[in-house]
Amino acid sequence: MTNKDIAVFDIGGTHFRSALWTNGRLGPVTRRPAINYLNTAHRSPVELQEALADYLVAETERLQLGSGTSIKHAGISLGAPVNARSGCVLQSGPLWGPRSGPFELQAALTRRRLDTRWTIANDVTAGLASYIQTCDPGSHSRILFVTVSTGIGARLYDFARGGVPVDPVHGIQGEIGHIKVEAFFRGTRLKFTCDCGGCDHLNAYSSGRGVLKLLRELPSRSPDALAVSTMAAARDGDDDAMLAEFSHGVAAADALALDVLATITRPLALIFSALLTHDPLLDSIVLAGGVVDALEPAYSASLDRQFRDHGLFQITECDSSYFARRLRIVAPGDLSGLIGAGHLAEMAEEGRSIHVFQ
Ligand SMILES: [Zn+2]
Repeated sequence: MTNKDIAVFDIGGTHFRSALWTNGRLGPVTRRPAINYLNTAHRSPVELQEALADYLVAETERLQLGSGTSIKHAGISLGAPVNARSGCVLQSGPLWGPRSGPFELQAALTRRRLDTRWTIANDVTAGLASYIQTCDPGSHSRILFVTVSTGIGARLYDFARGGVPVDPVHGIQGEIGHIKVEAFFRGTRLKFTCDCGGCDHLNAYSSGRGVLKLLRELPSRSPDALAVSTMAAARDGDDDAMLAEFSHGVAAADALALDVLATITRPLALIFSALLTHDPLLDSIVLAGGVVDALEPAYSASLDRQFRDHGLFQITECDSSYFARRLRIVAPGDLSGLIGAGHLAEMAEEGRSIHVFQ
């Protein structure tokens, strides 16, 4: 009987989570603050990257001691773009700061612990791997799994190929957060910058960080509307208070809050319109993430309104529910990264990969 214990990790910008994954079940979860550029002294991003590899190896050893069996495989969900071919982490602003370069995580881990297999995936891919378990493969052709939280990412899953097609050279797919978009608030064009340094990226407007930026500018952009808005109270609050007040405003159909919501949903709706124009087999768009959670059901209603307003040529004028029929909202919860990492490692054990290279 082969050992089935797998160490699973969810590496986010704020927290690291770890657990044992045994025959499809997640054990007790340990959580600690992330080792990031804001909370850890370092001379260069390289030190933080090496510290991540040290943590993953030490935590795998701790889980191994606790389980009493030897762990030969670890699955890692990582909140950063990962080259699926090489296991190289391409960049992580939230963990290593705006000037971090790529990190050969797979190689760094193998160097430390040769007897362990390391399966590394982006957190959107891990979330998708967890979601796919709930799908009936017979009733889908392709689905797009989208997370809207601190950042925005998407993964297309192709049921005919049984996986996520990725670029055969660069090993990535679906980094829609870094597409250039135009965003307008009450008729005025915004000019915001993404965490990656790029101007006008979708993340700059439609992510959690993007909406906070706009909320902070409301006193100068729309003082009169703010004075009569339900959001007037939260001006001195922290990020969480400001987001909570925005969420209450949206739920109460406050006019200013709904304008902010339209500003953040429109660029995303336009991207979905371009994707659906090219890919008529895309039958579901699955939305997850903190921003969606906080604003539902108004979020999907606003997205649908923006989609219909922009239109899909020769379709939406005669089929007004075209987009709404494809939209699914899921609340996968905190553990989807760990669960997805477990499924991805199990697939690797069976000689399969969720990634399709050609
Ligand atoms: Zn960007």
